[in-house]
Amino acid sequence: MTKKRKLINICGTGRSGSTMVDLILGNDPRAFSLGEVHAWFRPFRSHHFKIICSCGRKNCPWEQLKKFSEDEFYQKCFDWLDVDILVDSSKNLPWVIDNNLREKRNNITVYNVLLFKEPINFYHSYWKRGTRIDKAREYFKKYYLRFFSANLPYITLNYNELVADPAGTIEALCNALEIPYFEGKERFWNKEHHQVFGSMGTRKQVEKAQSQIRKQEEFPPEYKKLIPAIRSDDEKDKILQDILCELKSNDLKLTNRTKSIQKPYWYYLSKLKQKYRQRFPQEWKYDQ
Ligand SMILES: [Zn+2]
Repeated sequence: MTKKRKLINICGTGRSGSTMVDLILGNDPRAFSLGEVHAWFRPFRSHHFKIICSCGRKNCPWEQLKKFSEDEFYQKCFDWLDVDILVDSSKNLPWVIDNNLREKRNNITVYNVLLFKEPINFYHSYWKRGTRIDKAREYFKKYYLRFFSANLPYITLNYNELVADPAGTIEALCNALEIPYFEGKERFWNKEHHQVFGSMGTRKQVEKAQSQIRKQEEFPPEYKKLIPAIRSDDEKDKILQDILCELKSNDLKLTNRTKSIQKPYWYYLSKLKQKYRQRFPQEWKYDQ
């Protein structure tokens, strides 16, 4: 009997640790981490027109994978790579909706892992790169509200819990996804990966022999001073509180699959925007 093939989407906002979770779940001889592969089929930035794999080798599997078409991509990847699990950290919601609908017809089980950081850590990731707190809060709310409005089945993973207890959290996640866990799976740098378009910082970690999962960073004094006001604004924000409540109630457990997946108005808008960007891509340098 052939095993049921599984596609695991890692969803969540930018800077939520998705590249790392992608590599951890891909750390299995029967799994493969695809990275943010939507950028290859639906490019929107200048560096998306060329595949630069993290392995840097000549006989990289991407030489073959990049030839497959979007419609048959996952199926052909399963066959050609001879794996049971594919992990995709594209996060882009129209892409995720499309692959959920398409792969169901192809008899592939699709799981959506919805990753999130506690808001205070999330804002900090943006604040230290020059984004205002209120902008970061709006971005956080927009992504998760959109995700919920598509009715995708999902399981949430709290990044703060993951870095506090990598082994325990990953084992619980694997149990929920019904995929094998082995001791040390979280040490993703022990496998050679072929990840494309993900966080360069995490991809570079794969190359280091003495790697580790970074604990939550200590906030600088300037940020600490802002925390009481941020917390007070967060508490007053009803929508944010509802989102957090929803996220936390599905921590490491699957929501049911009974609702039908929706394509809300923003699905069409973001597809149009992508088509425009494909012709006029944003200039972009990898963040180091
Ligand atoms: Zn490669």
